[in-house]
Amino acid sequence: VKGTWAALALALSLAGAPSHAESVRVKLTTLNFPLTISGNGISIRGIRNSDIQSVAIPKTSELKIETHKVVGKNLWLVHKGETLNRLSQKYLEITSSDDQIKISGYKVSTPVLITNHGDIIASMPLNTYLEGVLAGEMPTNWPIEALKSQAVAARSYTLYQINQRKNNIFQLEGSILDQVYANTENSDQRTIIRQALAETDGIVLMDHGRVMKAYYHSDCGGKTEDPEKVWGGTKTKGLPTVVTDAHCAFNPGSKWTFDISLDEMRKKIESPFKDVRIVTKTASGRAALIAFNEADDKNVLISGNELRKILGYNKLKSTLFSVSIQDDTVTFTGRGFGHGSGLCQWGARYMAQKGASVREILKHYYPNANITEVSHVADL
Ligand SMILES: [Zn+2]
Repeated sequence: VKGTWAALALALSLAGAPSHAESVRVKLTTLNFPLTISGNGISIRGIRNSDIQSVAIPKTSELKIETHKVVGKNLWLVHKGETLNRLSQKYLEITSSDDQIKISGYKVSTPVLITNHGDIIASMPLNTYLEGVLAGEMPTNWPIEALKSQAVAARSYTLYQINQRKNNIFQLEGSILDQVYANTENSDQRTIIRQALAETDGIVLMDHGRVMKAYYHSDCGGKTEDPEKVWGGTKTKGLPTVVTDAHCAFNPGSKWTFDISLDEMRKKIESPFKDVRIVTKTASGRAALIAFNEADDKNVLISGNELRKILGYNKLKSTLFSVSIQDDTVTFTGRGFGHGSGLCQWGARYMAQKGASVREILKHYYPNANITEVSHVADL
């Protein structure tokens, strides 16, 4: 995999040239400077498109990296013991002799790229990435057909994003902003994940001849949601709208309440509101628009999705809620977890337990998708 970033730099310098679709650039995390890099045989170089500069220091086991702005331009300060090296390129690429380093305690496989925002970006083969997504997105003790449907959804979503962001420095966020990426070292888990990927190898969801942005989520709460209602934009032809789902009702954690003090809620939304009500709901019953009433005719209007972002996606678990104020507490009472679009993981789990195949599960949650086997994902 060595030299990946040089290839990327070349690809980026050729305007409009397609990137190699079978490797994925993933933002794993963002860390604060200074960064302490430790590992064996660390090499470092600056990269800016076709301009590559290696640091002329012997291979080392520890480095400290800072950034410094000089007349608006970013400068890297790379400390090795008493020695200081300066680099002016946009990114730093780090490799190591045993392909593993720690960056400020964060363990990562090399090569890895660092941006001046502290973004840690790894380039890896598509399947390596999908292994991490399966580890991050679904428990490996769930039925294999559920894991396989998760694998197809994740593969489709990934290929869609790779194409959309082919000229970006990273194509996927390793978090709920795209897909949660986890690096499992448990060999039993790895075996199951690899089985789910191998048994669905090359299978993607297509929509009108294009790979589909196959959304998925934890628990829809009984009805899935139209992606357009979550992310806006124009309606994509062929995408499923709302699917009734009886399967996830068996999730023991489906029902939730979230309490927040009136004071804290007022601070969060920057409004001295006295009352709250849901103004409009989507077809699946989710809160589309919430009005926080300050006075007779003065309301602060916030969308359900925006409210999840403000309060935290893990606290306001979905937009399928009702809301009330009692004394000094605002109480949200809801069902489900996640945005609700596409595959419902808890529903898929139950369908698989009842004997449904990966195809039946995918057909249920993506009724308009064509389940297609492709030999070269790079051709999509
Ligand atoms: Zn569901």
